[in-house]
Amino acid sequence: MELVELARKGVYLSKREIEEVKNRRFRAVVKYAFWKSPFYRKKFKEHGVDIDRIKGVEDITKLPLTVKQELRESYPLKMCCVPKEEIVRVQMSGGTTGQPVIIPYTRGDVERWKELMLRAFHIAGITSKDVIQITPAFGLWNGGFGFHFAADAIDAFVIPLGAGNTRNQVKFMRDFGTTVLCATASYPLRIAEVAEEMGVDLRELPISKLLLGAEPWTEEMRKQIEESFGATAYDIPGLTEMGGVGTTGFECRMRKGLHVWEDHYVVEVIDPETGEVLDEGEEGEVVYTSLTREAMPLIRYRSGEVSAVLSREPCECGIEHMTIKRIRGRTDDMVIYRGVKFYPADIEAILASYGIRHYQIEVGNGIVVKFEGDESLIGSILKDVKEFLGFKPKLVALNPGGIERSKGKAKRLIRVGDAS
Ligand SMILES: [Zn+2]
Repeated sequence: MELVELARKGVYLSKREIEEVKNRRFRAVVKYAFWKSPFYRKKFKEHGVDIDRIKGVEDITKLPLTVKQELRESYPLKMCCVPKEEIVRVQMSGGTTGQPVIIPYTRGDVERWKELMLRAFHIAGITSKDVIQITPAFGLWNGGFGFHFAADAIDAFVIPLGAGNTRNQVKFMRDFGTTVLCATASYPLRIAEVAEEMGVDLRELPISKLLLGAEPWTEEMRKQIEESFGATAYDIPGLTEMGGVGTTGFECRMRKGLHVWEDHYVVEVIDPETGEVLDEGEEGEVVYTSLTREAMPLIRYRSGEVSAVLSREPCECGIEHMTIKRIRGRTDDMVIYRGVKFYPADIEAILASYGIRHYQIEVGNGIVVKFEGDESLIGSILKDVKEFLGFKPKLVALNPGGIERSKGKAKRLIRVGDAS
């Protein structure tokens, strides 16, 4: 179990070790990108970057930002830094319209994906004795494979069910004694609903851990999931551009945010409008630099994720990698309504406090919030939204099943024309 040991060591690197590795890898990746990627060579030249003057992470702002549109324009492999023979697979990043964003992997990239996912397994206490049921799709989206590679590497009992057939998910959980469920954050509540229809009490099953990612979810939602399953739910971040689920970091076991694996990623938080790096505690867009990806490292990549740096000090959980807030939303999901900025998660937090699990927000000529629940709740919810967010949406109560269920990421936000 060499990889397991490597993963464990990586979790507990000291601040001093992290700083040393991070700076060394940062200098190396800037040179690597310049020499191996025509895209970055051109981009650095256009911005007057002298790579020999990049001495460490303190020089990061001398480098230009990379945006998703550039990845799209680089289809199929124009940003790749290795010859095609060295690519062992590709995955695809979000966005359902236009040119796909393709992320290539070398063998080394896949090995690191496993290792970083195993850091999460280590923190969550997942071992070869676990029965791991994987519900994200196996395909171009990275979720299924990311969990699979690590679960397979430790010889756990893997159930690679993939997306779909929720009744089967419940049946397999019951019949094989699943102990770990990997899923998108909104899926467990759908599973809970179907389990109830089937007369299965999830709390009586051996399930003890859920690893949930791919979309922002609130603490209130966590409470509902943990109560329904009688299990602990962990937030697992990661995006395809950075190598997939489980790569960028994992949740602190004290639930103080997400620890970022700083020996593999440099994280900055910027003002999405000006591009300026923000101070600790200030919320903005997360920008990643991947330090160890071989096929397609990205320098200062604007992720669209909204978060803030919480602390660069060692955490009381024993981890010395920096801590950021759990992802609150995506910059694309931000709604500006009558001067108020909010994310679907802000509405979710309020609705979930009334026990509401399924909802949808329509933004158009006004804001409409549809939820499954009793009409009598409307008055109180309206009061809370007004108090916490400063506006009054139109609320519509629906019967159970009134909101369409999704097997992957839930569609929380629908834009109808332009918000006024
Ligand atoms: Zn911690």
